[in-house]
Amino acid sequence: MKRITRLKVLVVEDSKVALKAISGFIEDMGVHPLLAENGRDAIELYTRERPDIILLDIILPDTDGYEVAKEIRRLQGKDEWTAIIFLSVMSKDEDLARGIEVGGDDYIMKPVGSVVVQAKVRAMYRLVKMQRALVKLAGQLNDANLELQRLSMTDGLTGIANRRMFDISLAREWRRCLRLKKPMSVVMLDVDNFKKYNDRYGHQDGDDCLRAVAQEVLRSAPRAGDLVARYGGEEFVMILGETDEDGAQWVAERIRQHVAGLSLPHKDSSYGHVTVSCGVSSVLPGQDLSVEMLVKSADNALYLSKNQGRNTVTYLNYGQI
Ligand code: GH3
Ligand code: MG
Ligand code: MG
Ligand code: MG
Repeated sequence: MKRITRLKVLVVEDSKVALKAISGFIEDMGVHPLLAENGRDAIELYTRERPDIILLDIILPDTDGYEVAKEIRRLQGKDEWTAIIFLSVMSKDEDLARGIEVGGDDYIMKPVGSVVVQAKVRAMYRLVKMQRALVKLAGQLNDANLELQRLSMTDGLTGIANRRMFDISLAREWRRCLRLKKPMSVVMLDVDNFKKYNDRYGHQDGDDCLRAVAQEVLRSAPRAGDLVARYGGEEFVMILGETDEDGAQWVAERIRQHVAGLSLPHKDSSYGHVTVSCGVSSVLPGQDLSVEMLVKSADNALYLSKNQGRNTVTYLNYGQI
């Protein structure tokens, strides 16, 4: 007979003779069954061992098999499944129906013989394997979904948050600060003379430069909750919740210094190295104000930094042009 490995079988039977016979049939299949002679031991063994298949006598000394089955179904975890096969001399159709209703999967009439027990255990083993495969597949799907979700929020070049993540975080942070009655700030920044950088050093080095700048911006974020995202091309943005004008300007200045501190050579820049221009705006969120205007104001401030010779930080009030 083909032996079955990796299978846990629990036999619950109060008649010692029947218990010995059934466990013998199971052992012939290559499986050492767990044995219980009453409902309490059955539940305890189930809880501890989580068997794949339970052969469950209906009439037990302390409770009945229906109650044991119900309890097992109650204890069963989301991804768990145990096949329950009732054993009984009761032969009315209603008994069988009740067994299925309380969570049983099959029924064997007593007295039991080896052929039927082994065939039914084999049939349930097939289902157990299918269920295991399904759980595994569901786990893989879940992992793939999480990875997809992460990728859909990440910028492929720099590995930091992308525009989509920025849009979502911006709306969320606005609502949060509105509720807390705390100011929030946005810092927009753009790499200076980056077209010339690409032209001289090539697109590959341009990409490396963007990656390096992204890391510096990330490093300049003071709090874990601050979001740094790639806004597009060579533009980055930082959302600073519960941060006022002074705090945001301090952060922007840190970004500007950190990027300049990289000292990445840029022969076509008047500074001789890669620099960024920053625009900052802050506001106390209100019902008749909009987060879009806050971003627009930071963008306007960035535009001023460009006009003032780049490698600088400019602050504008909300709505200011
Ligand atoms: P300014 O100082 O006024 O910002 O000048 P700029 O040259 O930086 O600005 P402009 O908008 O003229 O050029 C931006 C350049 O950024 C052009 C574009 O090719 C480059 N760029 C955008 N995205 C990427 C990218 O993913 N990789 C590389 N290497 N270059 C990029
Ligand atoms: Mg009994
Ligand atoms: Mg730009
Ligand atoms: Mg630029």
